[in-house]
Amino acid sequence: MVDDWDLESFPPDLVVEQSAEAKELPLLPLRDMVLFPHVAAPLYVGRDRSLRAVEAATGGSQRLAIFTQRDPEVELPSVDELFDVGTEALIGRVWRMPDQTTSVAVQGRRRLRLLKVVQTEPYIVGRVLPLLDTVEEPSISSEALMRAVLTLFEKVVRLSRNISDDAYVMAMNANHPGWLSDLVASNLNLEVLEQQELLETVDPLLRLEKISVLLAKELDVLEMESRIHSQVQQAVDKSQREFFLREQMRVIQTELGEADPGAQEIAELQARIEEAHMPEEVQERAEKELTRLATMPSIAPEASVIRTYIDWLLDLPWAESTEDNLDVRHAEQVLKKNHYGLEKAKERILEYIAVRKLAPESMRSTILCFVGPPGTGKTTLGKSIAEALGRSFVRVSLGGIRDEAEIRGHRRTYVGALPGRILQTMRRAATINPVFMLDEIDKVGTDFRGDPSAALLEALDPEQNSSFSDHYLEVAYDLSKVLFITTANILEPIPPALRDRLEVIDFPSYTEEEKIEIAKRFLVPRQLEQHGLKQLSFPKTTLQHMIRDYTYEAGVRNLEREIANICRKIARVIAEGKPAPRHILVRSLSKYLGPPRFLYGQLEETDQVGLATGLSWTEAGGDTIAVEVSIVPGKGSLLLTGQLGDVMQESAQAALSYTRAHQREIGIERLDFDKVDIHIHVPEGGIPKDGPSAGVTMASALVSALTHNPVARDVAMTGEITLRGRILPVGGLREKVMAAYRAGLKTVILPVKNKSDLAEVPRKVKRKLHFVFVEQMDEVLPVALPSRDKVKGPRGAPRTKNVRSEDNHDQQTEAQ
Ligand code: ADP
Repeated sequence: MVDDWDLESFPPDLVVEQSAEAKELPLLPLRDMVLFPHVAAPLYVGRDRSLRAVEAATGGSQRLAIFTQRDPEVELPSVDELFDVGTEALIGRVWRMPDQTTSVAVQGRRRLRLLKVVQTEPYIVGRVLPLLDTVEEPSISSEALMRAVLTLFEKVVRLSRNISDDAYVMAMNANHPGWLSDLVASNLNLEVLEQQELLETVDPLLRLEKISVLLAKELDVLEMESRIHSQVQQAVDKSQREFFLREQMRVIQTELGEADPGAQEIAELQARIEEAHMPEEVQERAEKELTRLATMPSIAPEASVIRTYIDWLLDLPWAESTEDNLDVRHAEQVLKKNHYGLEKAKERILEYIAVRKLAPESMRSTILCFVGPPGTGKTTLGKSIAEALGRSFVRVSLGGIRDEAEIRGHRRTYVGALPGRILQTMRRAATINPVFMLDEIDKVGTDFRGDPSAALLEALDPEQNSSFSDHYLEVAYDLSKVLFITTANILEPIPPALRDRLEVIDFPSYTEEEKIEIAKRFLVPRQLEQHGLKQLSFPKTTLQHMIRDYTYEAGVRNLEREIANICRKIARVIAEGKPAPRHILVRSLSKYLGPPRFLYGQLEETDQVGLATGLSWTEAGGDTIAVEVSIVPGKGSLLLTGQLGDVMQESAQAALSYTRAHQREIGIERLDFDKVDIHIHVPEGGIPKDGPSAGVTMASALVSALTHNPVARDVAMTGEITLRGRILPVGGLREKVMAAYRAGLKTVILPVKNKSDLAEVPRKVKRKLHFVFVEQMDEVLPVALPSRDKVKGPRGAPRTKNVRSEDNHDQQTEAQ
């Protein structure tokens, strides 16, 4: 038996006999480690067979064959369950441990290949063949590799907390690549399979190369670990320092008899929570958060998150409410005082208040939705309802919202999280029952961040909104006392689930007379007051010109802006001490507002070939659109420009197909369509347009261009066209007619099926226009292209249904 470690006998290569003959040795299987040659290690032996192998070896050659098991769990491994390459070990001291295991000190000598197992009982004996490291002459490359590995190993030893400095000393003294690689390998933190691979790599240089790669990897990991460690250390040091300082400060303050500011804050918050009349569940929540806050240093980041949260709970109204004034006559007076016209809307609201008075619960399920172009008084009417009922009024715009979190808030785990817009607005309202206006619900979008309209529905729906959930707040909030009013420019984009719940009140465009009245009664006095002007009048004709030449809108927003514009200029004149006018006259408008921006009356100076006026319907109300067609020699192509949507492009195709199919009736039978290029353009080119209702206009412009007959410049038209030339009804008729009237046009060509929609157009507007109802395209052409001499309908003479609007109007209203 070899006593203790005999460092004198190193390097072991020199003492290992160099014979490579197979021999038989007692075999010790290892469960989860690999013993490398040249390396000393203690082994814990527990299995009986293994103990007997150790005894046999100590009684004999002092040598053991050590092989690692492929599966560490196997108790009695067979030859297949051992790796083929192992290590010959010299046995040192054997210790009996208190737990009945035995510890054996061994020293690896050289690699062995297991040829076969000769016996398995009472212990395993293996027939093994030594695998000797080739001892080559030192070369420059082996020297360089050894140095590189040593340098890396030194760095690893320095950074690692698990490798002792002795390991580096030993590695420094290893003068052979094989020896060095085995020493380093045994000190690295490697998986058993990686260790076994190194053991099986018999070529020392190749082994050293593999080691250098593993070392570099280990170094990377260690460097990263050390960086993280030092950062953590710094942070801990800083917070410990702060903690000590703060504790000292607290002690000093107590000594000086000053109150602890933290404790004072907590006490104040506690008092506010008690006074806030929160629902029980919410109060419990607030107190729980307060307890958490009390236990942490007041400048911890977490503390400010909790403080903001408690502030939110405190700032939201939980119990404060106003008492409703359900006096219908009072409400009527308020609405009358604040608004001109809007009779239908006002009536509907008075009914609403009346029913609320008589059957408070039945009204809960209504959500009013004011629909109409901008500037038609939706917001101001909302405010007046609040005034009439004696409630507070708040408003939030939903335009462009795509993220559910905007409505419902972000969870508190987000940095900078806040409640959603609904609760933010409730905080502003400061009462639980405000009139709450949600503007632009037609502009709410949907995308991957969830569906805001679903969250919106939950807020609005009387069935669910008594416990509205906000991600930030986490506790339920009761919205059931709120009177929600939504607004939209058009109904179509609102998701059907939401639209179903809305009670729509229409806000139509104003006529010129209504605008003048609104300006005289509300806009001018308000602007005069805001600008500190006393004696300034806007005569009716001035307002009329401002409406016609400087604004082109459904509502009165721009009109109000222009009035403010003039007031500002006059205020300046007065402030400068110069004589100021008392009346704003038509002729001085261009001095204040610049040259007229819109040409009222005629869109063009003369009738034009290939230019027809259509009517469109947009969010801003109705509008006129020009359709231009030009024909040039070419190859039969159709070019469409002006950002036309798919449906509009298709209706241009339909208009062209109609023209081609009716060449003879139109009087262009000799035209070869394959020899011309047709260009249809709809200005303004930068604004996207869509819809089928320009079909009639396109066909008219097309026929005009092909026959060289000009289109009457005071005629506007709308209608969808089929390939056979039938004219189909279109939407938004009221707003379209209002647009024609605003533009000062005289005649409007409409589909017969839209006739009933005229009932919604104010009588004054109808009196000013001449309506022509058509079923077929051949009825359009004589009106649109009056100078066309050879107009023949497919069945002979054209069948126009010209009706003077005044006569027609009366018949219609009676028919309603
Ligand atoms: P909307 O909400 O429909 O866009 P607003 O309510 O903001 O329109 O109205 C724009 C401006 O026009 C406001 O200053 C408002 O006072 C005024 N206004 C609109 N319609 C009327 C009306 N019928 N009577 C009095 N003022 C009106």
